[in-house]
Amino acid sequence: MDTILVVNAGSSSVKFQIFLVEGEGRLRRQIKGQVDGIGSRPRLRARGVSGDPLADRAYPIEAIPDVPAAMGIAGAWLRDELRIHPIAVGHRVVHGGPDFDRPVLIDHGVVARLDRFVSLAPLHQPHNLAPIRSILAGFPALPQVACFDTAFHRTHSAVADHYAIPRQLHADGVRRYGFHGLSYEYIARALPQVAPDIAKRGVIVAHLGSGASMCALKEGRSVESTMGFTALDGLPMGTRPGQIDPGVVLYLLSEKGMSASDVQKFLYRDCGLKGLSGISNDMRELEASEDANARLAIDYFVYRIGLNAGMLAAALQGPDAFVFTAGIGENSATIRARVGEHLGWLGVTLDPAENSRHASLISGPDSLIPVYVVPTDEELMIAQHTLSLLINRPSPNPKQARVS
Ligand code: AMP
Repeated sequence: MDTILVVNAGSSSVKFQIFLVEGEGRLRRQIKGQVDGIGSRPRLRARGVSGDPLADRAYPIEAIPDVPAAMGIAGAWLRDELRIHPIAVGHRVVHGGPDFDRPVLIDHGVVARLDRFVSLAPLHQPHNLAPIRSILAGFPALPQVACFDTAFHRTHSAVADHYAIPRQLHADGVRRYGFHGLSYEYIARALPQVAPDIAKRGVIVAHLGSGASMCALKEGRSVESTMGFTALDGLPMGTRPGQIDPGVVLYLLSEKGMSASDVQKFLYRDCGLKGLSGISNDMRELEASEDANARLAIDYFVYRIGLNAGMLAAALQGPDAFVFTAGIGENSATIRARVGEHLGWLGVTLDPAENSRHASLISGPDSLIPVYVVPTDEELMIAQHTLSLLINRPSPNPKQARVS
């Protein structure tokens, strides 16, 4: 039974999934799990594909102090108890820098190059690289693939890739990279099946989850994104502010006595829906709340999606379709209905019944452009990339690399 392990490592959790490799390169998800509470209250939880619980175990803090230890616990559980020996591991890596415009098979040289991008994503890149290093050390023959959140956006034109700052900084890596690329790539690949008429045309995709951004797709490629140098820009998110005048950062530094690291924590953890509402970063809680500040946070979220849709509509010189995806985009009929109202100037109308039942096509028959809900699947995208690099790599039978 050939399987692929997909790993998404953050600062306090390692999420993992197992995909079974079936005939003709088809993949079937088998297990979803995570080790969370790293360094505080570590816990391994995993479920089978139908939601059946497979593990739920608490560990003492010293047993899982860091990401490599969490990867070790998850790997040992898969190998020793489930007898799962993956033929390859695919990793979500936030930053591929200017160099990587596609996934890459990992070796020590690649890790050294990815290490150079730690300064571009200091809160994420080191945690993404930690399990790569530990697997490389423990299982050097096991193929690993890095899949980047930035890679899908490397097709942007020079004007979309630059800031209006001296060009040397662009050469140094200060560019408008864009993120959520694995999600947008998945949507771009799904559209020919979901909506063949518009798959090659101009499509605005709104990835609305705890992180949120929007992307303009043309002929299935990214031409513009609301995110830039970091995953802070663009739309307001659960705990990040989205677009903010850099002068606010200068004010926090000079007038509020905050250090650069205070500001970093503030921008990643205390702003967005959480900061504005003072209640929660979770859209479900805000929707259920009667509080005026919860309403303001939702109004702001919807308003900024509308404004950014205008920007991406200009990049596309008029979009041919609009797609909602990710946690909020896939599940909140209320937010979709409200965004739909903000898109009225584009001739968008939604069918309330189709919208409430989370149908695939939710626009009304009189809508000038169709509006879709397309569930995203970044982990499947990583598994597909991993399998295809494994199949195409110029080396011996991958089974020889199996972990034993
Ligand atoms: P993601 O990051 O894509 O997993 O999305 C997570 C976010 O989706 C959560 O923080 C929730 O705010 C939001 N979400 C999930 N389900 C719903 C729902 N039924 N209604 C509103 N928001 C939801």
